[in-house]
Amino acid sequence: MTSLTPILTRSWGDETPWKLESYEKAGGYEGLKKALGQSQADLVQLVKDSGLRGRGGAGFPTGMKWGFLPAPDGGPRYLVVNADESEPGTCKDIPLMMADPHLLVEGVAITSYAIGSHHAFIYIRGEVVHVYRRLLKAVADAYAAGHLGKNIHGSGFDLDVTVHAGAGAYICGEETALLDSLEGRRGQPRLKPPFPAVAGLYARPTVVNNVESIASVPAIVRGGADWFTSMGTERSTGHGIFSLSGHVTRPGQYEAPLGITLRELLEMAGGIREGHELKFWTPGGSSTPIFTAEHLDVPLDYESVGAAGSMLGTRALQIFDETTSVVRAVSRWTDFYAHESCGKCTPCREGTYWLKQILHRLEHGKGEAGDIEKLVDICDNILGRAFCALGDGATSSITSAVQLFREEFEAGMTQPASELFPPERSALF
Ligand code: NAD
Repeated sequence: MTSLTPILTRSWGDETPWKLESYEKAGGYEGLKKALGQSQADLVQLVKDSGLRGRGGAGFPTGMKWGFLPAPDGGPRYLVVNADESEPGTCKDIPLMMADPHLLVEGVAITSYAIGSHHAFIYIRGEVVHVYRRLLKAVADAYAAGHLGKNIHGSGFDLDVTVHAGAGAYICGEETALLDSLEGRRGQPRLKPPFPAVAGLYARPTVVNNVESIASVPAIVRGGADWFTSMGTERSTGHGIFSLSGHVTRPGQYEAPLGITLRELLEMAGGIREGHELKFWTPGGSSTPIFTAEHLDVPLDYESVGAAGSMLGTRALQIFDETTSVVRAVSRWTDFYAHESCGKCTPCREGTYWLKQILHRLEHGKGEAGDIEKLVDICDNILGRAFCALGDGATSSITSAVQLFREEFEAGMTQPASELFPPERSALF
């Protein structure tokens, strides 16, 4: 693991970073003790001042989200951690929880105190049983050490934490579908507004935050807002984990201030695999428009990536060299979206199915007249009309790929991608 700012990943190279004693030896839970001595309002203000933005992809200001909770009315309010990481290419929360589960547990305790929640939930993908078990153990150890439970560190604050394993559906990473799933229903998105902050779990005020966002909180409490804003850019403050995968010499997680460029990240990751050159890449997972080598110097912050025509999203940089068929890559992502569409809304349910049919034709050299126009037209009709972000996300790679590599889609009228780009050369498909 290489990093410029080892904060979230600082212990990943250690022998047993997941153990409570290792975490405490490195100053763990000191942030919680400090937070319990402060007022809840001061903590919310601190996170607002830090500029921390949601690390799950949307980049919504975390402190502002906490501040949206209505005034206490005597009833319960909840913190729900979205640990259902599943955006293709995104692999930061799962390694974080595996290496350093107490960092998340401490963040959960501080955040729960700040927002006045006495019951927090961590909703994790059911497939990652090893991570689920590790979290269960960390939570049990934290209870035994008095970091969770009744009267935490003599503060009078009580907190219970439940770790819940989902059943493995991409849609359950969408915050309201996650809440339905947590309530025992089939996971499908709810209409927003009301946002979870107002009516979330069991229709009570709920903060839903991503793992990395919550794991960033202990360091902000210890280091202060000025320390956090000294990293990153003016509007995209702090640091984050960038997941590099694909045709890169040393794929993995690289922690760095927001605003770093792919060129700089590639220097750390040993560059594109030897003898090859960059063809295209995703700045924030497969739900974001693709970039090319022209975008190597775009600062990876919310504003700059947006201005360049894509989204920072989950900072999942999937990197493809010249051996890759863009049609095949987009077709695989679309298979994923068609499979994972929850079926609640027509544009996404029907649209992703049609996109898949057309892309399969183009991938196998059997495109029909008007197919490319039809692809773009279906994308236009999904965008902004689907019930949740999944539909929009399904279209991003397609429309950007057609704009940047139209000739490859045209070749797909007659030539299979497997002839133009033999899969064994690409070694990714
Ligand atoms: P969103 O912009 O609708 O909402 C972001 C957050 O801000 C939510 O928690 C929402 O409740 C809150 N919010 C927004 N406006 C609010 C308001 N007026 N009042 C109160 N709260 C408000 O985005 P989203 O649909 O939650 O997420 C989309 C993003 O998810 C995409 O950009 C994508 O990058 C990301 N994503 C991540 C994964 C993953 O595995 N991490 C998977 C799929 C998608």
